[in-house]
Amino acid sequence: MTVLVTGGAGYIGSHTALALLDAGEKVVVLDDLSTGFDFMIPEQATFVKGDIGDQDCVETIIKQYGITAVIHFASKIVVSESVSQPLEYYETNTSKSRNLIETVTRCDVKHFIFSSTAAVYGEPEKTPIREDVYLSPINPYGRSKLMVEWMLADAAKVSGLGTVVLRYFNVAGADPAGRSGETTLPATHLVKLAARAALGKRDGLSVFGTDYATPDGSCVRDYVHVSDLAAAHVAALNHLRTGGENLTLNCGYGHGFSVLEVIEIVKRISGNDFPVKHEERRPGDPAALVADGSKIQTLLGWEPQYDDLEAMANHALAWEKKLVARGL
Ligand code: UDP
Repeated sequence: MTVLVTGGAGYIGSHTALALLDAGEKVVVLDDLSTGFDFMIPEQATFVKGDIGDQDCVETIIKQYGITAVIHFASKIVVSESVSQPLEYYETNTSKSRNLIETVTRCDVKHFIFSSTAAVYGEPEKTPIREDVYLSPINPYGRSKLMVEWMLADAAKVSGLGTVVLRYFNVAGADPAGRSGETTLPATHLVKLAARAALGKRDGLSVFGTDYATPDGSCVRDYVHVSDLAAAHVAALNHLRTGGENLTLNCGYGHGFSVLEVIEIVKRISGNDFPVKHEERRPGDPAALVADGSKIQTLLGWEPQYDDLEAMANHALAWEKKLVARGL
């Protein structure tokens, strides 16, 4: 039994490939290296450079390696870019996923785990957010992912495909053993940007909005350690393999930190009091996004190991130092 990981040269995909290999699975990574890096792909994984929307390529991989499960990460993930280039997002995230799902069902793959996002919730009326609230994404990124959730549910009904959809909150940190981390360029995520500022690789940091209805006025997010997220994928696969029902689950700890709190922690652990500017709100940012994470804990037995923002920031800093040493 071999698992196909699309986007395995990227941030969450590479950590999940590592977690699968650590659990004794065989892994094939399919990635076009558009935003991923070949040094992120675990050495023990088989790597195929290719396009998830290329049905001949995917079919060949499934047959050649005896793929029984697909974990699908490959996508574009920057909200602001999705606003300026919506059709690129619908092409890569939605149309290519449709092709992939069609190939997977035609080739009789049994299990499919999909990398979705809290962006499907839009501006939730209340937090923590449960999976069954009304879905109303406020940007093309969230819509491009929600359409895949719907396609997958419809396709699973007729094909019998076993599916788990994981809706990620704010992923941060890096492999504690230093084997992978967030490398995507240009950096856009807060913890990574703060780590780069702390290492003097950027000229401080901007806080986008300090007038939100939150305790300190800056946005609140539920930061999840990438290795806990990777473990959730392994648990989801085991759930499907043991005959578990199809599920849609939040991946978050159920509590949040503000932008100002994140910056404070990174400053403290790095010992660098880098400059911080307060700026206007960034379009498309909800005030607070915090998961109700009870369903994944109950149904998958997910037990987070790194629910600790300081540990996340330390791991992110350690990885960023490695990248700087590589000239990135
Ligand atoms: N943010 C910020 N400054 C930055 C980058 C991000 O204030 O340089 C804020 C952003 O406005 C949001 C939070 O940090 O409120 C998390 O943003 P990120 O881009 O990391 O993740 P998102 O929530 O957009 O997926």
